[in-house]
Amino acid sequence: MDCPRDDVEMTELTEGEERFLFHCKECGGLWLDAADLNRILLHAGLQTLEGMGGRANPDTDAGECPVDNVGLLAVESQHKRDPLVYETCESCGGIWLESADFADEGTSARTLKAGIVDFFREFSSHRASAGSR
Ligand SMILES: [Zn+2]
Ligand SMILES: [Zn+2]
Repeated sequence: MDCPRDDVEMTELTEGEERFLFHCKECGGLWLDAADLNRILLHAGLQTLEGMGGRANPDTDAGECPVDNVGLLAVESQHKRDPLVYETCESCGGIWLESADFADEGTSARTLKAGIVDFFREFSSHRASAGSR
């Protein structure tokens, strides 16, 4: 599968028998299934994606889904300044995460998974306060 950003073939990362994400060596971005992501989040004691409180921003120029070439939808966190953003494909449920959001600690399945958990922990952190304006 090719990276939605720079059309480079992404590396498939597996854990045990299961593939769970694709990693682009060129830009460092990650692609994974919403189902796999939710499993990771729940395992880390976080809510699933639906509970993260992100809001879709259709004005953002997101990339294209590497699976079915549907335009991706950017979803922003509730942070007032510099919201975190991930992109999702409404057709296949894939999730795209930019590399800039991850610490450059290596590209093993374990470190990338830790990066994903950190990202979404931060993503959901301002959920409560943002609503009471
Ligand atoms: Zn890339
Ligand atoms: Zn898709």
